[in-house]
Amino acid sequence: MKQISVVGYPRIGANRELKKWTEGYFLKNVSKEDLLKQSADLRKLHWLTQKDSSIDYISSNDFSYYDTFLDMAVLLNVIPQRYHGLELDGLDTYFAMAKGYQGEKGDVRALPMKKWFNTNYHYVVPEIDDTTVFKLNGTKPFDEFNEALEAGIKTKPVLIGPFTFLKLSENKCANRSVAELAKALIPAYEQILERFDTLGADLVQIDEPCLVTDLAPEEVVLFENIYKKLLQSKGKLKILLQTYFGDVRDVYKHLVALDFDAIGFDFVEGSKNLDLIGQYGFPKDKCLFAGLVNGKNIWINHYRKTLALISDLEKYTGAQIVINTSCSLLHVPYTTENETQIDSKYRVHFAFAQEKLKELKELAQLADEGNYQQNANYIKNCDILTQKADVDFEHRDIRGKVAALNENDFIRKPSFEERRKIQKAALKLPLLPTTTIGSFPQTAEVRKLRRQYKNGEIDTSTYSSAIKKKIAEIIRFQEDIGLDILVHGEFERNDMVEYFGEKLAGFIFTKNAWVQSYGTRCVKPPIIFGDVKREKAMTVDVIKYAQSLTSKPVKGMLTGPVTILNWSFPREDLPRRDIAFQIAFAIKAEVEDLEANGIKIIQIDEAALREKLPLRKSEWHGEYLNWAIPAFRLVHSGVKPETQIHTHMCYSEFGDIIRDIDDMDADVITFEAAKSDLSLIGLLNDNHFMTEVGPGVYDIHSPRVPSATEIETIIKKIMQKLDISKLWVNPDCGLKTRGMEETGQSLENMLKAARKVRNELSK
Ligand code: GLN
Ligand code: ZN
Repeated sequence: MKQISVVGYPRIGANRELKKWTEGYFLKNVSKEDLLKQSADLRKLHWLTQKDSSIDYISSNDFSYYDTFLDMAVLLNVIPQRYHGLELDGLDTYFAMAKGYQGEKGDVRALPMKKWFNTNYHYVVPEIDDTTVFKLNGTKPFDEFNEALEAGIKTKPVLIGPFTFLKLSENKCANRSVAELAKALIPAYEQILERFDTLGADLVQIDEPCLVTDLAPEEVVLFENIYKKLLQSKGKLKILLQTYFGDVRDVYKHLVALDFDAIGFDFVEGSKNLDLIGQYGFPKDKCLFAGLVNGKNIWINHYRKTLALISDLEKYTGAQIVINTSCSLLHVPYTTENETQIDSKYRVHFAFAQEKLKELKELAQLADEGNYQQNANYIKNCDILTQKADVDFEHRDIRGKVAALNENDFIRKPSFEERRKIQKAALKLPLLPTTTIGSFPQTAEVRKLRRQYKNGEIDTSTYSSAIKKKIAEIIRFQEDIGLDILVHGEFERNDMVEYFGEKLAGFIFTKNAWVQSYGTRCVKPPIIFGDVKREKAMTVDVIKYAQSLTSKPVKGMLTGPVTILNWSFPREDLPRRDIAFQIAFAIKAEVEDLEANGIKIIQIDEAALREKLPLRKSEWHGEYLNWAIPAFRLVHSGVKPETQIHTHMCYSEFGDIIRDIDDMDADVITFEAAKSDLSLIGLLNDNHFMTEVGPGVYDIHSPRVPSATEIETIIKKIMQKLDISKLWVNPDCGLKTRGMEETGQSLENMLKAARKVRNELSK
């Protein structure tokens, strides 16, 4: 029978157990022994679950207390000096790198985190400098391999490969080139392989996801050189080179010529991999790990298509095919079994990690059967897939609207400059207008209120009057400190996507479908099941109420279509473009409703617009920005010239997409700039950025209160580069994770600074 494999399994626990123990350990409520013991039990459970599904290649070392990239850094001894200085033990040094350390041994910041390719996972970025000595440090992967052996399972250990490790680490070396670093790094990997060989491993999986990104010729050479050398010392160990998240077009020929025993390709996101195999062939003596079960989305596998692909692959290659997941299952939740509140007619469409194991097994059985069309599992799969169109979730009208879209629907009139004049006259704002990004601290009191309401402990009217009271307080507070544009505080919102998803038709919510975002943080993305449609107003009541309390403008606060899409599990029976336009129509209706109710400024957050930018630059526009930017434009194209449209983005690295951001045609954009070195400001200047801008003047991600002078300096730096008549003053993101006290002080300092600069200017 065909063999089956899993690239990696989720590690946080079906009920986020690991999160709870780890956080408990941070708070000193859980002892180190307990943490280690519980984690070992969890690993064992995950191995046994996979064994139950007859997985032939079960991974080890896919477990992590925080992040596997950080594990790899520690294993290779890439530990910056400042953490050694703390003199902590191994585990605590590791956690200090992950989340910083503040205590009796010192005060050291954490390593930065970055998004893991185009997923919602974030990895810790190791720092390599001239003092780094690569050598084996610790025994984590070996211990876990032995642990699994004791449980009766010979695993395939998983490692981040040297090429990806070097490419994604921060290189702070003044004196060592990447090639030199690679040379120094290889012996450490050789030792790892030797150890596994001695321990009796058969196959080691080396992950090189960077191979699916655009590679320069010299990077291809580096990759080749690394593996020519490393593979010389593999002994009798077999090596699987695993790629995922796309195709390997820049390096395919080199990859198949190297001495790997097996190569893993992603055929879900890397459909071009099939063309590459067709074009250049695939060596018969290597084993092909075919990523066919989607590790990034939650829909059941399409057996008919997958089986056809398996048979094509067999025909083209003549090689042994192992049926694999497309990437680690880390990016999907554990099991649909917990989601009993979802009607089974919908639930049957979902396959989370555990269900995907079963799919692998069924696919292997089917692939072996000559006549699988008669197989009960096959028939069931086909039946479910054809029944997808459920009347509750189909909205012909909205499909019709998307189909009828034409160029003019994306154009707001009059032009930006014309609108600007009209808005200036209508809003009469001072120079350097001050505002916030939307949310105010979600205190324990607010969270309790929402919980009580959700659990049915308080009724709707009690809940809404309590929320109204909070709104009234925060409006008064903002008036008192003297902000120019107010917000209602977002107390009624748990999450900026979930809140809208719950009110829109087309979404399904889960109870326990958590996915790790970073470290101990998990998110629970909603599922876009059907056509998205606004059935009723979602925010008008609260915003109208907030506006009734003050003569200053209150911003209507909405989440944009691209962000709602990017932070959900999207349906796959409709192009992402169409889903984005459906959501855009819903948000557009809300915008127009707010406007009709007297709201003069509306902010449409696109916090996650950049997140799903394709990994290859050549696809940025054709595959993504060509509909993502229009989706945003559609939302506000119908408003009056005097209505001011704001947007907010949670990052400041606009780099090559700065033109596209301007092309969203918002009137004002606020973004994160306080943490970066303000280099963006120069970029905005160089590109003649048109939209008015509010670069965040202080960092809300830390409880630290910035002084008025500090903020004044930042404002003045920004003023040197940007047209002051287009400049706004605001924090760099929403304030919901902060406490009220520090928020009050920080905002007062921000206002002091803005007033001081204004005064100086008017002299
Ligand atoms: N308006 C949202 C808030 O202030 C924006 C959040 C975000 O950018 N992630 O909370
Ligand atoms: Zn933000």
